[in-house]
Amino acid sequence: MNKENSINNFNWSYATALESSDHIKLQERYELFINGKFVKPLSKKYYETQNPASGKKIANIALAGELDVNAAVNGARQAYNKTWKKMPAKERAVYLFRIARMIQERAREFAVIESLDTGKPIRESRDFDIPLAANHFFYYAGWADKLDYAFPNRKVNSLGVVGQIIPWNFPLLMAAWKIAPALACGNTVVLKPAETTPLTALKLAEIIRDCGLPPGVVNIITGFGQTGAALVNHPDVNKIAFTGSTEVGKLIQHATAGTNKKLSLELGGKAAHIVFADAAINQAVEGIVNGIFFNQGHVCCAGSRLFVQETIADELISKLKFRMESLLVGDPMDKNTDIGAINNKVQLDKINEFIKTGIAEGIEVHQSSCDLPKKGLYCKPTLFIGVAQSNRLVQEEIFGPVLTIQTFRTIEEVIEKANNTNYGLSAGVWTDKGAKILQLSAKLKAGVVWANTYNKFDPASPFGGFKESGFGREGGVHGLIPYLNF
Ligand code: NAP
Ligand code: MG
Repeated sequence: MNKENSINNFNWSYATALESSDHIKLQERYELFINGKFVKPLSKKYYETQNPASGKKIANIALAGELDVNAAVNGARQAYNKTWKKMPAKERAVYLFRIARMIQERAREFAVIESLDTGKPIRESRDFDIPLAANHFFYYAGWADKLDYAFPNRKVNSLGVVGQIIPWNFPLLMAAWKIAPALACGNTVVLKPAETTPLTALKLAEIIRDCGLPPGVVNIITGFGQTGAALVNHPDVNKIAFTGSTEVGKLIQHATAGTNKKLSLELGGKAAHIVFADAAINQAVEGIVNGIFFNQGHVCCAGSRLFVQETIADELISKLKFRMESLLVGDPMDKNTDIGAINNKVQLDKINEFIKTGIAEGIEVHQSSCDLPKKGLYCKPTLFIGVAQSNRLVQEEIFGPVLTIQTFRTIEEVIEKANNTNYGLSAGVWTDKGAKILQLSAKLKAGVVWANTYNKFDPASPFGGFKESGFGREGGVHGLIPYLNF
């Protein structure tokens, strides 16, 4: 039996272990959360959110128009002036703490709904998204009454009303990254989730209502890009915090230029994942798999450009192919699933277009031999081997389970190649030598550099980019800065 066959004949079938969704109560229709209440949209419009794994409709969602955005901003302004601005910081902390506890109590419900709406494997929403979201609220609850210690000898003040716009890849987690520091710093919030993944933000709105947070301190308005644009352009918003594509980030930067609005942007990425010959190779393979196939590659900091030192390239690529065969692609609700559904059709078409172009250009391609489910939006984990530095696959963000592989000989060469990108969000390094890690973490132009691990997150650790990956940090003490006046 040749090596290729031995890989493909491996039998990795597991009995399905479906997460139950019986305990989940979803409404037919969701309204806007403004001033502490769920209210019908003045626009009178609704749209559908769907399950990307089945194509089935989950619920109707209110579509906020300009008048609705105005109502939400006014609600946030009133709440800021009348209650939140004046409330002692330690009381603000109590609410954040309560929100964290209530997310924990409802963690299972949140995990199931997150997987239904996004297509991400239940194991990920259960073990990563939801616990980390709760932890962000716990963490910033701790800072609320210690801002003077965070910034000694400086007088800090809240900004006022903050508009926050988030993407579809980590819906609850991104809502937590945005809301928790904003409230800890004494601001009020209008949050707009992504069009395709509004459900967990609306469930969070239930918690916000039930925890007794004063009405209007957090408002959640669902809708499309125009809803986000109306929030950005509203004259009574003091700050915009945006996570999403570089393209929309640039539009927002244009829209806020020349105004008094503060801005922070968390945008795209094209992370270099670098493996030296002296690395622990099996662990590196796990790190690579985690870096690019985690959450279907819908990760701004995905390790999407692999650089392998030439002497170990053949061995590493062969181990990577072998490992890919054991990845289970399929039903997000199955606890065995490693790679779930692509969140939406537009994104799947975009990924497939990149794959088609790479194949047409004659680049060596490898996909795992798994069968994809007949229904739903899925993509096979894919490698492009020996890609030129100038190729689109290397330069542009694909935002899917697609990895490009290049080789290098020297540390200088790999630093130059890794930094040759418009992005600068994250990077990964695998080596046995601490000196190399220190040298690379100083020279790589990336907000986060992981060493001998990948995609590790902690609320105490700041995250954010260089260059076209944006500016401002989320997490840690640094994550307070975008929400304060100094
Ligand atoms: P996107 O198209 O930029 O959308 C992000 C959010 O902005 C959505 O809520 C979207 O609403 C809204 N929006 C669209 N057009 C707008 C406009 N003109 N004005 C104001 N808001 C507008 O990004 P996406 O496709 O959802 O997410 C994928 C991108 O996000 C990737 O590029 C990824 O790298 C990036 N990302 C970055 C980070 C980070 O921390 N750096 C984290 C996660 C994702 P609709 O949903 O209705 O379009
Ligand atoms: Mg959806």
